[in-house]
Amino acid sequence: MSTNAPERSPAVIDTQADFFVQVAVPSPLRDFFTYLPAEDTDKSRFKPGARVLIPFGNRKVIGIILSTLSCCTVPVQKLKAVISVLDDEPVITPTILALCRWASRYYHHSLGEVFMQALPKGLRQGKPLPCNTETHWQLHESLSEAQIKQLKRSPKQSAVAHKLNNSPSLGLGEAQLLNQGISRAVIKGLADKDIIYKKEKVLAATCFSTYGTEGGETALSLNPEQQNALNNVLAHLHHYQPFLLDGITGSGKTEVYLQAIAAVLKAGRQTLVLIPEIGLSPQTVGRFKRRFNTPVISLHSGLSDGERLHGWYQALAENAGIVISTRSGIFTPLPKLGLIIVDEEHDSSYKQQDTFRYNARDLAIYRAKQAACPVILGSATPSLESFYNASTGRFRHLTLRVRAGVATPPALNILDLRQQPLKSGILPDSLAHLSAQLNQGNQVMVFINRRGYAPSVICHDCGKVIDCPHCDAHMTIHRRPPHMHCHHCDYQIAIPYQCNQCHSTNIHPAGQGTERLEQALSEQFPDTPVIRIDRDSTRTKHALSHMLETINTGVPCILLGTQMLAKGHHFANVTLVLILNADGGLLSADFRGVERTGQLIMQVAGRAGRSHKPGQVIIQTYNPKHDALRLLTQNHYSLFLASLLEQRSQLGLPPYSFMAVIRAESGLSQACEYFLQGARQAIESTMNGHLKVLGPLPAPMEKRQSRFRWQLILQANQRATLHTTLSGLIAYLDNQKLPRHLRWSVDVDPQDMA
Ligand code: ADP
Ligand code: ZN
Ligand code: ZN
Repeated sequence: MSTNAPERSPAVIDTQADFFVQVAVPSPLRDFFTYLPAEDTDKSRFKPGARVLIPFGNRKVIGIILSTLSCCTVPVQKLKAVISVLDDEPVITPTILALCRWASRYYHHSLGEVFMQALPKGLRQGKPLPCNTETHWQLHESLSEAQIKQLKRSPKQSAVAHKLNNSPSLGLGEAQLLNQGISRAVIKGLADKDIIYKKEKVLAATCFSTYGTEGGETALSLNPEQQNALNNVLAHLHHYQPFLLDGITGSGKTEVYLQAIAAVLKAGRQTLVLIPEIGLSPQTVGRFKRRFNTPVISLHSGLSDGERLHGWYQALAENAGIVISTRSGIFTPLPKLGLIIVDEEHDSSYKQQDTFRYNARDLAIYRAKQAACPVILGSATPSLESFYNASTGRFRHLTLRVRAGVATPPALNILDLRQQPLKSGILPDSLAHLSAQLNQGNQVMVFINRRGYAPSVICHDCGKVIDCPHCDAHMTIHRRPPHMHCHHCDYQIAIPYQCNQCHSTNIHPAGQGTERLEQALSEQFPDTPVIRIDRDSTRTKHALSHMLETINTGVPCILLGTQMLAKGHHFANVTLVLILNADGGLLSADFRGVERTGQLIMQVAGRAGRSHKPGQVIIQTYNPKHDALRLLTQNHYSLFLASLLEQRSQLGLPPYSFMAVIRAESGLSQACEYFLQGARQAIESTMNGHLKVLGPLPAPMEKRQSRFRWQLILQANQRATLHTTLSGLIAYLDNQKLPRHLRWSVDVDPQDMA
């Protein structure tokens, strides 16, 4: 990266000015910019990591100070001055600054934008840093005889003065005084007499380390596998060490986390817990809060901007010992960081899919290295990357093969869908199993990966399917409320009554969605409640928690839902899980398709038999002989992973190679293709080292939201080769004049090739 002024100009060393501020600006430009200090600002206020308001083009924007310089290669008259410095102390701490710099280089993304991602919205918008002080009222010195006399006729003031006199520091917090029923008027009276004065006291007393580790719910006594895992972590508490905690669902990983956190708190250090988007439920947070008598901060999308800023600040000010957060929490400043946990480390929500395409799981490794602390990646279905790192010894591999407590792993069975009569997508055998479990008073779960009524509407006369005009996708039919909906761009229309190709009215829903199944299951089991859990049924605020409450009463019922059911929930009474459409991902064009299907099947299967009743899983499939399914039913996920690794090795795919995708999108398909062809030529003309270039190819879903999407895939055996190539390519592309409305982006370690 280079130092550049807003207007690029020939290098001239200026001899008059000797103080320059280097600023990272939230703009896609991968450059830093040089400014003059604001005229009357004390130069010591220009601290790296503090925010400045600066003129940028014809706007005013907030940037982050990177450094100050004593000389500059740009003529002073070309430079603009900082408008104001917004912070006395850096909002990007030195540690987070280093993390952001690393991430900016690794993901080839503008540092200014990375900084903005690292800050809570309030700070991005220029709000002041909340202050961590409390108003105290204090005596100048111990009460004198004269003062006691002076207060004789104001008994209330006298009482307060004596109270302060008796406190060790001759002072008490205003909140504390008000709480004791003392009025503001009394306090003001004493202040007017100059007997007491106001002091803003920094709240060191509420630092998390002042809370004992006692007082919460008691820890469970661990089984030998859990104990072994915990001992391993405890043996590495004071230096960098990554762990893969590879434990089947219900094996008690969370209990291991909790006991490791207890040790970290005892050592006076903080823990960062990352959870997938969908998993950060009040139940999860509650489990951590109940265990520890120390402030736990949870940062999730449901918070207001103010709450988020407050939580973020609690972490920075060391008020909170534990921060639980989704992806973006990886940038939370934690001065006493002593442990990072990434729960469900395989989850794709750790990877941001737009703008700054970082992977919080991978940044967690970097952060643990920075903080010289352990990091635990936990999962029942580890990602291939982590499994590979564990197999090479880069991560320590800890396994939990038995379920904690009394539960045993469920049995997995495959049912062949080929040439079978189907009732709303359910095999007669499956129905019989559902019915048997319900009759025994148990709960059952039916999993289908599609919300809505049916994934498409088809004309039975001409075969036309109703497609979204903006995407390469069918429109899903919904019944409640009735409409057609594109799940990729949100385009909605009324349900048509005739085919727009042949005008026949013989058009019908095709395939199954959650709504349609809900209807079918209710007809099949009229006396059993069917609880549908998907994005539509849980849209209102407390809907999900109400449904979970009903389920937790243990009444026999049918839980029907999408991925939302697969993650994290603990349903003690579910004894049977039926997976309706496992096949889609097995045949997907994405090289991670099989891996994702395996994860999903095992995660859904993990909902069965979590308590004292044994569980059973039925997988309906058109590919009963598929190798992946066969390995999964042996209930040994590591065999499945090992076979996938073997395939990836043969094909030279990640983790055996390093990948990046250059994406282009535009209203014109051809513009994308030409642009990426240019990129390919640029790579080929400067290529050094072994690098494979694939494409340009249209994305599997070429058209989305009326824009065409193309990709160029780069694959290298060495990470360094990939990064050098990308740097060269980006420098080249940054200097190209782009066709109108064409946008391009770089995705390092892509997770989703759609
Ligand atoms: P995971 O996170 O691996 O899915 P959890 O930590 O949620 O598993 O544990 C599953 C269930 O087993 C929970 O109800 C938990 O309270 C219980 N459990 C965990 N460890 C033990 C233990 N050592 N003894 C008894 N029950 C346990
Ligand atoms: Zn038709
Ligand atoms: Zn669409």
